[in-house]
Amino acid sequence: EQIQSKRPLKLLLAAPRGFCAGVDRAIKIVELALEQHGAPVYVRHEIVHNKFVVDSLKAKGAVFVDELDQIPDGGHVVFSAHGVPKSVPANAEERGLAYLDATCPLVSKVHRQAERQVEAGRHIIFIGHAGHPEVIGTFGQVPAGSMSLVETVDDVATLTIDDAGNLSFLTQTTLSVDDTAEIVEALQRRFPTIVGPKGEDICYATSNRQNAVKAIASECDLVIVIGAPNSSNSVRLVEVAVRAGAKAHLVQRADDISMNWFDGVDTLGLTAGASAPELLVREIIDSLSRHFDLDEQQVTTAEESIIFKLPRELSDSGV
Ligand code: SF4
Repeated sequence: EQIQSKRPLKLLLAAPRGFCAGVDRAIKIVELALEQHGAPVYVRHEIVHNKFVVDSLKAKGAVFVDELDQIPDGGHVVFSAHGVPKSVPANAEERGLAYLDATCPLVSKVHRQAERQVEAGRHIIFIGHAGHPEVIGTFGQVPAGSMSLVETVDDVATLTIDDAGNLSFLTQTTLSVDDTAEIVEALQRRFPTIVGPKGEDICYATSNRQNAVKAIASECDLVIVIGAPNSSNSVRLVEVAVRAGAKAHLVQRADDISMNWFDGVDTLGLTAGASAPELLVREIIDSLSRHFDLDEQQVTTAEESIIFKLPRELSDSGV
């Protein structure tokens, strides 16, 4: 092998990055369920949107399914961090399946808000991405027809609403902070009496990761975001970096990185979505260090110490 002198590359590591408290809890729930009940433990939907995490749990005996009808009678099932429509636990109960709910408490909070708004007689405008499991789960908390989806400012203009004086809005937890603020403004302009959450429903982890990448992106020629294409908060990090003026790529593993991306790049930013483990950050740094003489600096814009309690069924067992 030819020995070349490595070129210097400044590496700005965004912090916070990677796992949030909801993802951490969801993975622990599957691991503890496997310890308590043995394999297989069924998981409805990817527990979090990360292939590495899903594959690691598969190796320990988790079996991932799309729907409960793929689970044999007597099976144990975990619902993913994104939350599920009410019909899912109801169906599990009918089937006599033992279930654990790994829905992030911050998603559950939005679910309860949705129920409250409907009880108060308001129609809900939900800001989110069509088809995302969190959106499907939140729509499934309330009767059909009591919630409308908007994805963009343009959607606000074309909404048809019967009782425009009796509205509330809620949001998905993993949206772009900036885009959502614009959509909320558009809603408030068109429906001045619309009721909304204090602040917003975008979670602390999503907004912290967006702030952190924003803080480094303007100094970076390229930003690499570790995350899955179906991970909403990870895709948002790419958008934030691009808006701040950097080129940006979403990668799942070190192998996805192409050396062609680095022409003219002197400063690289690196971050990871809320479902991507720190191990993958290290994998990518190790891989880059084979090509570059890295000058690694972490830029911290917030400290996170939040931890969510495990479901009682698991925490009572002393684990
Ligand atoms: Fe919960 Fe936010 Fe993490 Fe989603 S990204 S699991 S809402 S903490």
